[in-house]
Amino acid sequence: MALMLQTSLSTFAQTSKQDAFVNNLIQKLTLKEKVALIHGIGHFSNGSVPRLGIPSLIPSDGPHGIRMDLNDDWSASNKVNDSGTYLPVLNVLASTWNKNLAYAYGEVLGSEGRYRKKHLILGPGINIIRHPLNGRNFEYMSEDPLLIAKMAVNYINGVQSKGVSACVKHFAANNIETNRNIANVTMSDRALHEIYLPGFKASVIEGNVNAVMGAYNKFRGQYCTHHEYLIKKLLKGAWKFKGLLISDWGSVHDTQEAIFNGTDLEMGTELNMKDVDYGKFFLGDTVISLVKSGIVPERVIDEKVRRVLRTLYKSNAFSKMQSGAFATPQHSAVALKVAEEGMVLLKNEENVLPFSKSENILIVGANAKNKMAGGGGSSQVRPKYEVTVFEGISNFLGKAVNIEYAPGYLMQKNAGASTKLIEEATMKAAKADLVIYVGGWAHDYDNSGNWDNRAFDTEDADKTDLTMPFGQDELLNAILKVNKNTAVVLLGSGAIDFTKWIDNAPAILQAWYPGMEGGTAIANILFGKVNPSGKLPVTLPKKLEDAPVFKFGIDTSDHVNLHYKDGIFVGYRYYDTYKVQPQFPFGHGLSYTSFEYSRLVIKKSNDKVYVSFNIKNTGKVSGSEIAQLYVKDLHPAIEKADKELKNFEKIELKPGQSKQVNLVLDKSAFSYYDESISNFKFDKGLYKIMIGASSQDIRIQGQINY
Ligand code: BGC
Repeated sequence: MALMLQTSLSTFAQTSKQDAFVNNLIQKLTLKEKVALIHGIGHFSNGSVPRLGIPSLIPSDGPHGIRMDLNDDWSASNKVNDSGTYLPVLNVLASTWNKNLAYAYGEVLGSEGRYRKKHLILGPGINIIRHPLNGRNFEYMSEDPLLIAKMAVNYINGVQSKGVSACVKHFAANNIETNRNIANVTMSDRALHEIYLPGFKASVIEGNVNAVMGAYNKFRGQYCTHHEYLIKKLLKGAWKFKGLLISDWGSVHDTQEAIFNGTDLEMGTELNMKDVDYGKFFLGDTVISLVKSGIVPERVIDEKVRRVLRTLYKSNAFSKMQSGAFATPQHSAVALKVAEEGMVLLKNEENVLPFSKSENILIVGANAKNKMAGGGGSSQVRPKYEVTVFEGISNFLGKAVNIEYAPGYLMQKNAGASTKLIEEATMKAAKADLVIYVGGWAHDYDNSGNWDNRAFDTEDADKTDLTMPFGQDELLNAILKVNKNTAVVLLGSGAIDFTKWIDNAPAILQAWYPGMEGGTAIANILFGKVNPSGKLPVTLPKKLEDAPVFKFGIDTSDHVNLHYKDGIFVGYRYYDTYKVQPQFPFGHGLSYTSFEYSRLVIKKSNDKVYVSFNIKNTGKVSGSEIAQLYVKDLHPAIEKADKELKNFEKIELKPGQSKQVNLVLDKSAFSYYDESISNFKFDKGLYKIMIGASSQDIRIQGQINY
């Protein structure tokens, strides 16, 4: 108690010091200087006021590495050493379900941001993974708001512990890339509050995030970046957010809405680059005229400036701080750990995996030699190094083993199956002791490191369907026919059509985009040095048409007016309630050992529910299990999902070891958003508590009258 009081007193003292400092600066600024601070003067800087020692606020992408420095034409500037740590993408981080790792991940970004003199890391990206075709799903975490909230808060705390600000994005409902600049999303209030907002709310209220980025799209007819309800009423009103609302790059469309609804900093608006005049930004010269003519009170602009200065202050722009660390072995070690814990073993029939070292190994798939860091759009990273799958396996096995390679397919967008390459790969597969097939999606198949909008997992474009690209269905079936000792390693953001070959494939490892140590992690898992423990943060459907975005009637026919008819039934909330069998359910992931769940005890005390149970490692190797707690309302007043994730824990266990897991639920775990009162509501009643190894593998359950 005494410690808590001390901490809050010291936070109070810091805040007062900061406010006094910031207010003092505001008093000294001219109107022109104030306006310079609230809009960009380059891709990644706003105006500065050198006479008062106010530097530009320097943001950097995000979310899985510090992006290279860029020139005005978006080419790499090559003026500094910006070859840093390329962390696994956020799909991987979410698949670890490991909150401590999310913090460590954030620390790496904060530390490297500090070293590179950045104030603001443009991450985490936490939009709900709703649509299997979204080209940007790889930058996001999950279909589940609770998993997102827990991981995002830790990521943010990690970044901000290094004296750099995090910026959670994209607020809100930016769940598909096609037409993102004009798309208008509508949905029920309930879906908004139960599914799409909790991650942002937790980032603000629990994570104390210093900045939020407004999304490109419209919501209920108004652009998100200057949205009266989302920003003015909710974010800055109900949630009491005191930080910076920064636009996405080019997401401001109206000066007065931006001024009055809470946009603080406008970035990235398209200007004529030949005759560039940043005064033409929506929050540029027009603001000066509006204040001078009395239409806008100057105090409204002061409030934006205050938030810019506060962010600078919190990012230590006015103080001396240690310079951070860049591309260190410790940071690579975090990249490796996240990759190892985030890969998901989807299938392992007859324990094909782990492989034992063999003499003749074949690696098939151009993706095995492809580097991914430079792809995907604004999240691109120039890595210090990137271990491809081929290199990872070669390093692991050493020179004594003969590793053959066959590309198997051509990495070109519309390339169909190449008979010649398939024949070559199949011939080699027939002779190999074991085959490692590396395929799936790709960011950037020309390996040039340039932003390539035609790639599959990329910003500003969506996939057209889930068919394995480059003719892989044919290739994979041919390989599986001649060699059953094959492991399929999939890269990419998740959903893909497995149906054409899955029955023939004994082992599948979902490796996502696993970062600079991805190849090492894949080798460690395939050959059993590391026991896989990742679990899916998204449901992987059998067919695209099974996804709830299609089941309730397609959102839109024009790809502009997106009505989210699926409401709260996103991901497993849909599949489990409507009894549609996915290919792999939410929370699924295998291990080289087995776990037994027992002794469930559920108790109510005061306002809380205390759940405890035991988990035992019943296999022969050490491993980690992610136990998931789901709640079901047995007599719901309104339609509810079959189950909802309300807590989870990752537990490490040696063979034979068992541990007690204790989880606590408060009222929020039993509440739903009631549109008639515009608030969350809790109904007394009977609830089922389910503990599972996935949303469809419930191991123990009980009930509580709450
Ligand atoms: C993306 C943001 C990114 C920004 C700056 C935009 O295109 O949507 O996520 O942070 O560019 O690069």
